[in-house]
Amino acid sequence: MSDCPNTDAPSGRAASATVSVSGLATSRGFAAGPVFLYSKNSALAVPEYILSDADVEAELSRYRAALAETRRQIEELAAKLKSDADGIASDVLANHLLLLDDPVANAAVERRIRDERLNAEAAIRRTTDDFRAMFAKMKDEYLRERQRDVEDIESRMIRILLGCGDSAFKHVTSPVIVVADDLTPSETVTFPRELILGFATNRGSATSHAALLARALGIPAVVGLGDITSRVQAGDIIQLDGSTGVVTVNPDAQTRAAFDRHAKSEQELLARIEKDDVDARGTSVPSVRLCANVQPGVSIKDLSSYGAQGIGLYRSEYLWLGGEADPDEEEQVAAYSEAARSAAELGADARVVFRVLDLGGDKMQRGQRVHESNPFLGNRSIRYLLSHREVFHVQLRAILRASAHGPSAVMYPMIATLDELRDANAELVRAMESLRADGIPFDAKIPRGMMVEVPSAALNADAFAKECDFFSIGTNDLVQYTMAADRANERVSYLYQPANPAVIRLVDMTVRAARAAGIPVAVCGESASDPVLGVLWMGLGVTELSMSAGYIPPVRKVLQAVSMDDARALAERVRGYGASRAAAEIYAECRALVLSKVPEFEEMQSFFTAG
Ligand code: PEP
Ligand code: MG
Repeated sequence: MSDCPNTDAPSGRAASATVSVSGLATSRGFAAGPVFLYSKNSALAVPEYILSDADVEAELSRYRAALAETRRQIEELAAKLKSDADGIASDVLANHLLLLDDPVANAAVERRIRDERLNAEAAIRRTTDDFRAMFAKMKDEYLRERQRDVEDIESRMIRILLGCGDSAFKHVTSPVIVVADDLTPSETVTFPRELILGFATNRGSATSHAALLARALGIPAVVGLGDITSRVQAGDIIQLDGSTGVVTVNPDAQTRAAFDRHAKSEQELLARIEKDDVDARGTSVPSVRLCANVQPGVSIKDLSSYGAQGIGLYRSEYLWLGGEADPDEEEQVAAYSEAARSAAELGADARVVFRVLDLGGDKMQRGQRVHESNPFLGNRSIRYLLSHREVFHVQLRAILRASAHGPSAVMYPMIATLDELRDANAELVRAMESLRADGIPFDAKIPRGMMVEVPSAALNADAFAKECDFFSIGTNDLVQYTMAADRANERVSYLYQPANPAVIRLVDMTVRAARAAGIPVAVCGESASDPVLGVLWMGLGVTELSMSAGYIPPVRKVLQAVSMDDARALAERVRGYGASRAAAEIYAECRALVLSKVPEFEEMQSFFTAG
C-alpha cells in the first residue's frame, strides 16, 4: 500500500460521506489516496484533483495564462471574421469576449482554485456547471442559448490548459487513485505509472484490456462499480481493495485501521510465498512452463525475479496505443530486440513469443477514426494486418530482425480460417526474403504459432496444427466468442465463464489436435493466472501457462503441489461430465482438488482475481 498524500480535505467544501461500494476485483493489491476524477461525461475528458497548498499560486497563474490565451485566440478569430465580413459570427465572438471578462465567473473560478484547491480545469468545469444550471431555468430562448457560448469558452479554455494531445496528468505531482467511467488501453498507457496508486471505474470487467494492463503494471484495480464517478469528488480519499473489489469513499478511522491490517497481512503472505518460491524454483512444476505476458513499455527487467520461464505473450499493439502514429521499423526493432535479449536471460529454453499487432476491439489507437458498430467482430487483429499489408510487412521484418538478438517466436492473433494462417505465413516468408535481399540477419527457423481464440480455430484445430509450430489459447477472447458475452461488459460478466463445458471442450479439442501433430500448446488468457483453472488446463495437456509476471509465484506454489496424475484424473472426470455440469460446479470441483493439496489456498485465493 502506498502512502496517502494530500489526505487533508480542503476547506471551502464538505467531503463526501463514508460509503463502501463493491465492484469486480481485477488487479490485486491495496491502495488508499486522493481521488483523481477522470470524467468523460462530455466530449472532453476533464481531470479533477486537489492541489497541494504550495501549488495554488502556480495554478492561479496557469488559469490566468489560459484566460489570456483564450482571449488572444478569440480576438484573432474575430479579426479574421471581420475581414471576411461575417457579421453574425463576429457578434458571437464579441459576446464570448464579454463573457471572458465577466468578473463574477472569474472570481468563482479563482475561489475554487484558492479555497477548494481544485485544479483549474475542474474549477472551470464546476463554474460552467453552475451557469448551465442557471441557464436551464431561464424561460427566455435567447438567454438559454447563451449557454452554448459559455460551453464554447469552457471547452476552449480546458483544451488550452490540457495542451492538445497532452496527458491529463501533466500537472499532477503527487500520487492519486484514478476514478473514471471507463478507461481505454490507449488512455491507460499514457498515465504516468509512478503517480497512479490504483484504478476504480464504473464499467469494465476482469478481462477488459485496461484491467489486464493494471495487472501487468501491478496497479490495484476495481472495475464495474456502477456509479463510482458520481459518488466521489476530487479531494475525497478512497480505499481500494483489488482482491475483494470493495472501494470505500472517505473511510472513517476504524475502517482505515481494518483496511491497513488486511493489507499488511496479505502483503506478508505474498512476500512469504515469493520467498518460498525462490527457494523452490529448482523443483518446478512438471510439464507446465510458467511464462509471463508483457506489454512494451512495462518493465520486463524483473521477469527473472518472478521466475518466469519465458515470455509467452508479447502484446506488441501497446507500441501503437500510446501515440497516434505507427512506430517505424527501427523503433519496433529496438523494442523487440530488448525483449529478445531479456528472454535469453530467462533460461536455456526461454523465448519471447511476439504476437503481431492485435488492434481493434477495445484496443484502439488514439485518433483512430474508423467506426465499426461491432468492433470485437470487426476488422481487428490479423484481419486488420491482412488488409494493411505494409504495416504487417514492417512489423514482421522488425520481429525477424529482433530474432537475431535472442530466442523468438512469432504468433498470429484471431486466426479464424486456414486461409488467414496461410496468408500470414506467406507474409512471413515475404518479410524473410526482403531481409535476405537487404543482407540483414534473422532466425530463419523462427517458430510460427497462432492464437486459438475464435471458436472456429478450436473446432478446426487439427487442420491448423499441421501448418504452424505451436498454439496459444487466448481464453479471454475464446470465452467471449463462445459465450457471446462481451469480455469488457460487467453486465454480462455472469456469462463470462472459462469453466463452461463448451469452453472446456474447445480447449480439449485444441490440445488433442496439438498433441496429434506434436506441437506444444499454451494458455495465455487471464484464466492461466487462476490456478483453479490452471490445474484443469494442465490435466487436459496444456504445456505452458502465460500470465502477468506477479502471478507466477503463487500460481507455481499451487501447481507444484498438484501432481500430474491428479490433474489428469480431474480432467478425465470433467471430460466425462460433458455438458451436464454447470461452470460453477466444475470450478468448485477443481477448487476442491487445489484445496486438498494446498490448505493455505483459502487464504491465498484473493491473489488470483479475474479469470
Ligand atoms: C486472449 O484473448 O486471451 C489474449 C491473451 O489476448 P488479448 O487479451 O490481448 O485479447
Ligand atoms: Mg485476444
